[in-house]
Amino acid sequence: MKAALTIEGLEVDFGGFKAVDSMTTVIDDGELRVILGPNGAGKTTLMDLISGKTAATGGKVHLFGRDITNRPEHEIARAGVGRKFQIPSVFRDLSVLQNLEVAVSHEPRVFRNLRLGMSRADRKRIDEVIDLTGLGAVLDTLAGDLSHGQMQWLELGMLITQQSKVILLDEPTAGMTQGETSKTADIILRLKGTHTILVVEHDMAFVRKIAEKVTVMHLGKLLAEGPMQTIEADPAVRDAYLGS
Ligand code: ADP
Repeated sequence: MKAALTIEGLEVDFGGFKAVDSMTTVIDDGELRVILGPNGAGKTTLMDLISGKTAATGGKVHLFGRDITNRPEHEIARAGVGRKFQIPSVFRDLSVLQNLEVAVSHEPRVFRNLRLGMSRADRKRIDEVIDLTGLGAVLDTLAGDLSHGQMQWLELGMLITQQSKVILLDEPTAGMTQGETSKTADIILRLKGTHTILVVEHDMAFVRKIAEKVTVMHLGKLLAEGPMQTIEADPAVRDAYLGS
């Protein structure tokens, strides 16, 4: 199995405090990996280090064999790492379809009439994302008028349209209704295999639904890693996190 992300001894030292420390893990191409851990464990910081938002003070990150450690954020994004934040970065004044067209073009200023000049491959990708996200009925709706869940799915769809191969999701179900959470799980499960997905999430019912392999962080370090069932039965994990 080809590795999508290889994280080796990764660390960041914030003035003597290591928020991520000696972190090592390999995430396979097409894998869906859930990162668990108590508040302050370093999960978000790990995502920041992978996406280039924060510079590492030690260790390496390789993306499909290419060293992306401490490369600029836009370069890492262009290399295929897409990040979804809790507050979606969609264009609120554009329609859902226009947002997807912007994402496919990589160029916000030229979205008008793009659909006419779009390649078949681009158009196919947009159609696939519409199918995946179930946003077909709201294509002409302004993104700013979408429900909370729809807006999250649109942003995720935009990451896929712009051909991110590795997708980082930080608490994707935050603020969602049960129905929205369930649909988000379905979308993520459908992406497995064609995309490599890293999810930080606290909602354990959701995690149980999507998780296969889990990485547990504690105090910036890797505490445990393995199949969800093994991890849930691990006394060290229960002590640090699940039991709390
Ligand atoms: P998690 O996502 O697991 O809740 P975080 O990655 O957000 O944890 O934070 C890990 C620790 O690093 C926390 O104690 C947090 O306060 C600290 N931290 C995060 N970013 C910075 C920073 N820029 N400077 C100093 N400390 C930070």
